[in-house]
Amino acid sequence: MEHPIAFYNTATKTVDPFETHTPGHVNMYTCGPTVYHFAHLGNLRSYIMEDILEKFLRSAGYDVKRVMNITDVGHLSSDADTGEDKMVAGAKREHKTVMEIAKFYTDAFFADCADLNIKTPDVVEPATNLIPEYIHLIEVLFEKGYAYEAGGNIYFDTSKLKDYYCLTGHKQDDLMVGVRDDVDQDENKRNPADFVLWFTKSKFENQELRWESPWGTGYPGWHIECSAISMKHLGEYLDIHCGGVDNIFPHHTNEIAQSEAYLGHPWCRTWFHVQHLNDKGGKMSKSKGGFLTVSTLKEQGYDPLVYRMFCLQSHYRKPLEFSFEVLDNVKNTYEKLRRRVLDLDPAGEVDQAVFEDFRGRFLDALGNDLNSSLGITLIYEVLKADTNDATKRAIIADFDRVLSLDLTVEKEEPKGEADGDLAAYVESKIAERAQARKDRNFALADQIRNELAEQGIVLKDGKDGTTWEKV
Ligand SMILES: [Zn+2]
Repeated sequence: MEHPIAFYNTATKTVDPFETHTPGHVNMYTCGPTVYHFAHLGNLRSYIMEDILEKFLRSAGYDVKRVMNITDVGHLSSDADTGEDKMVAGAKREHKTVMEIAKFYTDAFFADCADLNIKTPDVVEPATNLIPEYIHLIEVLFEKGYAYEAGGNIYFDTSKLKDYYCLTGHKQDDLMVGVRDDVDQDENKRNPADFVLWFTKSKFENQELRWESPWGTGYPGWHIECSAISMKHLGEYLDIHCGGVDNIFPHHTNEIAQSEAYLGHPWCRTWFHVQHLNDKGGKMSKSKGGFLTVSTLKEQGYDPLVYRMFCLQSHYRKPLEFSFEVLDNVKNTYEKLRRRVLDLDPAGEVDQAVFEDFRGRFLDALGNDLNSSLGITLIYEVLKADTNDATKRAIIADFDRVLSLDLTVEKEEPKGEADGDLAAYVESKIAERAQARKDRNFALADQIRNELAEQGIVLKDGKDGTTWEKV
């Protein structure tokens, strides 16, 4: 590659030159949301920065394949196999089934992503799709001596690895560092760090989703899904794995343990982790209640892209403190910047030499451990540069393929009711109508169709289900 690229790698604790298994190609994996509730702005900071990472790599000339899971089973409230199942708790809270909750919050997540100009990964795989793959992986871990059965559950034996704590450098005694909630010790475990691969007999008698396995009816642990989903779609060598710093331990640590035990060789080269978003009370999290979402921003009249700009102005490896005062400043800056860019006269010829010079500087900034704030600073330099408007506009449009701040896009209306929301709404109505027809409640099905028609949404029933169109 023409421009040097280096990222901080959690596995080595240094900023390393970025290398891939296959030159010119990037296999990229992102831990997706657990779809039991709305994503809060802290979660979304990670997805924004990972989006920049992906778009930057594409802009730098890499062919990127990106895969993300959707966790709809197996994730317990402590991350460490204790506490309540998050999906079950979400379903109980809303008097719905687990799959209804999963569908609703998956749609809501992608609607938020659409508002924030976050591209959907090439492959999105719900965890419940790959049960046979998890069973196969666990069977191989058994054959290789890394798995054991105790008290009905299947565990990974971390004592079989030379360097289980490769990401964190923890010692055995520090095990609970990074585990967020109170941990009640699971007495079935041979070593405190061991983790569940498959739950069979457990305290979760109310678990709706269960599958047959060689070890009895049950469901997979949380960590196994990311290893299996990644290997299914990206093969045995992963170039870059992303997530929030919360994921480092135990989730990513366990992913490495089981993947490398299964494969028998190193798995992922670069581990990319985004720091927390804090508010005045500390780290933003769902367990605290009253958390901030994209809807909160929209209700208060902010274009969600103001939040995107807020995130880009700071380095992904630094904790970021959120406040509405700061967001107001960013809103002013963003609106002024957009106005200045939109006022550039697009007529005239683009000066290629100037274009290439700025493009090079932009790639260098982002190639230097994703320095997105320098990328934003460069926009102001472009605006001041001694060249014509057409060149400036072309350069900024090129930057914006990565930054995705809609800087050169005229908007008719503020992004209030964005398309993502509409899609989630219509999809939920289509699902409701499908259920009504299944129940042979044709009056209700017709009513839903008519209500949508009144809003200009036309449904078309085909052999692959119902599609829709806004007329
Ligand atoms: Zn994961």
